[in-house]
Amino acid sequence: MACQLDIQPCSEWNLFSRLQRPLVIAGPCSAESEEQLFNTATLLKNNGIEVLRAGIWKPRTRPNCFEGVGEKGLPWLQYIQKTLGLKVATEVANAHHVEAALKQGIDMLWIGARSTANPFVVQEIAEALKGVNIPVLVKNPVNPDIELWVGAFERLYICGIKKLGAIHRGFSSYNSNRYRNTPQWQIPIELKRRIKQLPLFCDPSHISGHREYIQEISQKAMDLGFDGLIIESHIQPDCALSDAAQQITPQQLNDILKQLIIRDAHPNNSSSHLIIEELREKIDTLDNSILEALTHRMKIIEEIGHYKKQNNITILQPDRWENILSRVIDEARKNNLPVELVERVFKAIHQASIDRQTDIMNRHEK
Ligand code: PEP
Ligand code: MN
Repeated sequence: MACQLDIQPCSEWNLFSRLQRPLVIAGPCSAESEEQLFNTATLLKNNGIEVLRAGIWKPRTRPNCFEGVGEKGLPWLQYIQKTLGLKVATEVANAHHVEAALKQGIDMLWIGARSTANPFVVQEIAEALKGVNIPVLVKNPVNPDIELWVGAFERLYICGIKKLGAIHRGFSSYNSNRYRNTPQWQIPIELKRRIKQLPLFCDPSHISGHREYIQEISQKAMDLGFDGLIIESHIQPDCALSDAAQQITPQQLNDILKQLIIRDAHPNNSSSHLIIEELREKIDTLDNSILEALTHRMKIIEEIGHYKKQNNITILQPDRWENILSRVIDEARKNNLPVELVERVFKAIHQASIDRQTDIMNRHEK
C-alpha cells in the first residue's frame, strides 16, 4: 500500500530539486577536533560539496569505543557554516540532542540506524522537533524491517516534519560477507514505491565497511535512480577515531564522484521513450506467459493433491523435488541464467505447491 505522506522537497536550498543528481553529503564519521573538522570541510568545500556531515554523538555498538565529542562539537559545525558557507548535518538520538542541535542552528539532522529500530526513540525525536521546519533524514533500521522504517517517517510526519529523506545504509547480518551491511536493495526500492516523493540517499560508507567498495555501491545507487549520496570523508582516514576503514580523503571522494556515470532517471527524449515502451510491452507479454504457466501448473498440482489424498500418499516426495531442482539448475546453466535466481524462483513455486496440497489434504469435504 502506498503511504500518503506529503513529503516536501527542500526546495529553498534548491538542492533536492535541482536537475543534476546526486546531492552529495560528505564529511567525517565523527567530529574529532576543531582542526580535523575544519580542514576536512575546507577541502570538501573546494571540491564543490555543499553539505557537511559530522557525528557529534556516536552510537557505538560496543562500550569503550569513541562515543563522539558531544555538545562541544556543535560550535565547530556552526563556525564552518558561517565561514565556509556549508550546510551542516549531524545525527540526533534523543530529545536533548535535538534541542542542542537546533539551538546551535544545525541545518539538517539524521536519525541513525540503531535509533530507527526503536519506535520510542523516534517518537521522542519527532516530538522534540514539533514546529521546526528543518530537513530530517532517516536511516534504515539495522534489521531489514521496512515497516519500522516507514513507521519512523509516519511518526515524524504526524509531528509536522515534512522535509523528509531516507538513507539506505544496509542491514546487519550474522554472517559476514563482501560488505559490512548487506544492501538488500529491494527494501529501499519498496520504500520508494510506498512513499513516492521521498528523496532517497545511499550511504555506501556504512554499507561497504571498506573504502574499496564505495565506488561500486555509489554507482549502483545512481543506476537505481537514488537522489543522493552520504559519504564519510576524513582528512586522514587511517587515523580516524571511528569507522577508519571506510573513510576516504576529500580527494578520493572527488575522484569517485568524477567517475560516476549519472543516468537519466526520467527520460523525456521521445525516441528513447518509444524504444523503452516497445521493450516493456514485450516484457509484459512474457510476464503474462509466466502467469499463465503458473496458473496451469497450479491446476495440475491440485489434481495431484486430490490423487495423493485419495490414495494416502505423502505430499513431499524428496527424490522428485531433488530431480526438479537439479533439472532446472542444469537448464539455467545452459541458458546462462543466474543459478541463484532460478533456485529461488523454483523453491518459492515448490513451497506454494506444497501449501496448496496441504490445504487439499486437510480440507474436510462433506
Ligand atoms: C554514522 O552515520 O556514522 C552512523 C553511526 O551510521 P549508522 O547509523 O548507519 O550506523
Ligand atoms: Mn560512521
